[in-house]
Amino acid sequence: HPHPFSTEDLSIYYGSFEAVKKVNLAFPEQTVTALIGPSGCGKSTFLRSLNRMNDEIASSSTTGHIWMDGQDLTAPETDVIKLRQQIGMVWQRPNPFYKSIYNNIAFGPKYRGVRKKKQLDEIVESSLRKAALWDEVKDRLHDSALALSGGQQQRLCIARALSVEPKILLLDEPASALDPVSTGKVEELITELKKELRIVIVTHNMQQAARISDYTAYFYVGSLVEHGKTNDIFTNP
Ligand code: ADP
Ligand code: ADP
Repeated sequence: HPHPFSTEDLSIYYGSFEAVKKVNLAFPEQTVTALIGPSGCGKSTFLRSLNRMNDEIASSSTTGHIWMDGQDLTAPETDVIKLRQQIGMVWQRPNPFYKSIYNNIAFGPKYRGVRKKKQLDEIVESSLRKAALWDEVKDRLHDSALALSGGQQQRLCIARALSVEPKILLLDEPASALDPVSTGKVEELITELKKELRIVIVTHNMQQAARISDYTAYFYVGSLVEHGKTNDIFTNP
């Protein structure tokens, strides 16, 4: 397997309905891959399957493989909690915990066993800096996360995902609930973050895909029908 993160003949079913059909897709390092296609074509299902989030839906089942560093993530023995730290997810609607800004970020590292306050402080600051939120919140870290604007909450959710040092970030329409200014900030952030990790993003917005992605994967009725460099896909008829 030449690529350390890829899918091989990945199919996702809801009951007997095949929502994602034998998809083979590789995600190179330091790139953004945009998943596009009409509503209902399987983009979210495919995205959510990459960190086994789709397992939470009782009717859902999977065939095929997801390879990361030579391991098959679809194997039953996969530790999904650990996996979801390595492959972080940010949803369409910002979903901060009902906790302070600080504890939204510190929660994951604490769960992983980080106990020293100084170390947690450092992780909170560096995660918020990476998500371009530090300057806006550094004086109110102990306020409720729910007091933040929608755009700030979404960057907080990105910071929360980053706090456990993921290798891959999955973004499901991360800006579609945001105003244009906040959308621009999230897009800038994505471009900055890809220097450190791989990003896979579902978007309805073609212009957004063209602006921020290196590769585009076009889904249609569950199948991957086109995949290539974004520049080629958006310039060739
Ligand atoms: P979007 O395409 O904007 O992500 P959807 O309407 O496809 O929104 O999905 C919203 C939620 O509803 C998802 O959690 C999805 O799993 C669920 N959902 C979508 N279609 C069905 C369906 N046919 N039966 C049950 N749940 C569904
Ligand atoms: P997209 O993200 O491209 O809008 P989805 O992955 O949400 O597509 O949905 C793909 C197909 O799977 C659709 O036909 C949808 O109705 C169906 N689907 C999505 N979620 C569920 C679910 N939880 N249960 C049953 N069917 C679902």
